[in-house]
Amino acid sequence: MNPRATVFLGLGSNLEQPLVQLSRALREIHEIPNTALVRVSSFYDTVPIGLAEQPNFVNAVAELQTTLNPSELLSHLIEIEAAHQRVRTVRDGPRTLDLDILLFDNISMNEPMLTIPHPRMHERAFVLWPLAEIAPELAIPGRGYVLELLVALDVSGVRKYEERAR
Ligand code: ADP
Ligand code: MG
Repeated sequence: MNPRATVFLGLGSNLEQPLVQLSRALREIHEIPNTALVRVSSFYDTVPIGLAEQPNFVNAVAELQTTLNPSELLSHLIEIEAAHQRVRTVRDGPRTLDLDILLFDNISMNEPMLTIPHPRMHERAFVLWPLAEIAPELAIPGRGYVLELLVALDVSGVRKYEERAR
């Protein structure tokens, strides 16, 4: 068995009751073998970037502990996305569920199937804000501290839900 790794996941949805999609996804993540769900951020209502003509997203970040390796974890996440009838259309387009591996310990890898740290996380307020909420001291290898990256961004499109729907 691999040593235990700390992982941060980004969750997003903007179709078919996004709050319900995220809540269900968290329960399914909890069921991934050899993996524990340690912490979950608040849910955030976020204005889409890239493709503007689509509903707002709900985003959150979760911290896991796992003895799976990165590609094993990714397979489980893709399976969960598929169970949510995720249909891949255009890049940055609407989706019922998006699960991204943001960080996996201090691993850096750059393969077509899996790039870690997630290559765009450091410029996305909808990732860094929830991440800073649960891990304010965290640094992104090669990019800098989450809090320092966050203060440099426009957060006007991101709004924290007061009550997390579960
Ligand atoms: P995006 O999240 O950028 O909108 P998708 O969710 O459609 O794109 O992901 C497409 C592919 O991206 C996945 O099948 C996966 O193999 C690959 N991928 C590369 N790096 C990562 C990562 N860090 N987390 C999740 N998927 C990744
Ligand atoms: Mg994705």
